[in-house]
Amino acid sequence: AHPYYDVLIIGAGAAGLMCAGVAGQWGQRVLVLDHANKPGKKILMSGGGRCNFTNLHCTAEDFICANPHFAKSALSRFTPWDFIALVERYGIPYHERDHGQLFCDRSAKDILNMLLAECDMGHVEIRTRTAIKDVRVGPPYQVDTPTGTVQADALVIATGGYSIPSMGATGLGFDLARSLDIPVRPTRPGLVPLTLEGKALKRLEDLSGIALDAEAGFNGACFRENLLFTHRGLSGPGVLQVSSYWEPGQPVEIDLFPGVNLGDHIRSVRQQRPKMELKTLLGERLTRRVAQRWCDLWVESKPLDQLSDTDIAQVEQACQSWKIWPSGTEGYRVAEVTVGGVDTDALSSKTLECRAFPGLYFIGEVVDVTGHLGGFNFQWAWASGHAAGCAIGRG
Ligand code: FAD
Repeated sequence: AHPYYDVLIIGAGAAGLMCAGVAGQWGQRVLVLDHANKPGKKILMSGGGRCNFTNLHCTAEDFICANPHFAKSALSRFTPWDFIALVERYGIPYHERDHGQLFCDRSAKDILNMLLAECDMGHVEIRTRTAIKDVRVGPPYQVDTPTGTVQADALVIATGGYSIPSMGATGLGFDLARSLDIPVRPTRPGLVPLTLEGKALKRLEDLSGIALDAEAGFNGACFRENLLFTHRGLSGPGVLQVSSYWEPGQPVEIDLFPGVNLGDHIRSVRQQRPKMELKTLLGERLTRRVAQRWCDLWVESKPLDQLSDTDIAQVEQACQSWKIWPSGTEGYRVAEVTVGGVDTDALSSKTLECRAFPGLYFIGEVVDVTGHLGGFNFQWAWASGHAAGCAIGRG
């Protein structure tokens, strides 16, 4: 007979390891399978090697999902504070950065080692370098690997999204869902730099390396964070955030003077310094080079006392409603996440179990729940992994 476990988990990433530790500590016999050479590779590379493991201000609004309520249940039953309590129990030093983002002081390895220790406590078996050849729905769920078939009462799919194939990402979770007629919402790269082409790129490419405080918006989603000019287009946290919402063929709108009434500002400076050149005023915030470029392209630089109301409106338009038409994104090669995925209508929001297949669970990034930049994607991985782990453990 094939070796029998209570639960098989495919994917030893953030969600899979969390789920394994929890189910194991509930007394379940857990086997985790992963084709990579070691577990948690994305955790190790995350947050520039320091892992932005959660965010203090996490709410369901920080996630993109066709059903905006879906993530609430799992997120409320395993909060950032629950994860912080675990981190503190392991004595892992961490710090807070802007916007409530928490990072390790030392290294992302601390988080991975903690998850592995939690798995150890639950006597979880982790098998890496194990290709998945076939999956058969149960119970018993059966998974064929090159070293034989394993089976279990429950199967958890924690294979993540398509992002960074060089780190082992595959579409196994999406393919499996489709093969079982479980709906999958269209996927696209998210948290990814936007590219420009042709004239649009030529106008800006030599500004590469300049970063500005700006607000990037698309379809009502708006993010005020740094914008970075690159030699291929635009990046920086604000642009990465908006990329998760962006739809091809549509413009992204950028405000280079967020929170400022630029018209009023120009008029007030004009009273004190009527002979100041417009480009000098713009340069105080935009840098000299960007201000010069905007004046070359879209507005004429003149002394402030020569600007008409129409000129000022034009400056406002060019600086505060600057529209760019991205030609695309840098793709899954560099995207931090995959937007879209297994349709949440097919899953229980409480347990992440598939409605049509008792014992089959989808957790983490493979699900159509995508966090903003700032530790939210890991929080979803922890929360969804915990929800499924508890559901399986309690039986
Ligand atoms: P993953 O962690 O991707 O794990 C999936 C696992 O499944 C992998 O181990 C993979 O090898 C395995 N697998 C895939 N296909 C197969 C297959 N066919 N057979 C067997 N095994 C398979 N989020 C944050 O919140 N904070 C950050 O600081 C942060 N930084 C990031 C930096 C980078 C460069 C990237 C790419 C992402 C970052 N993210 C960050 C996003 C975060 O890493 C993911 O959202 C999170 O890892 C998703 O967890 P997961 O368990 O669903 O998937």
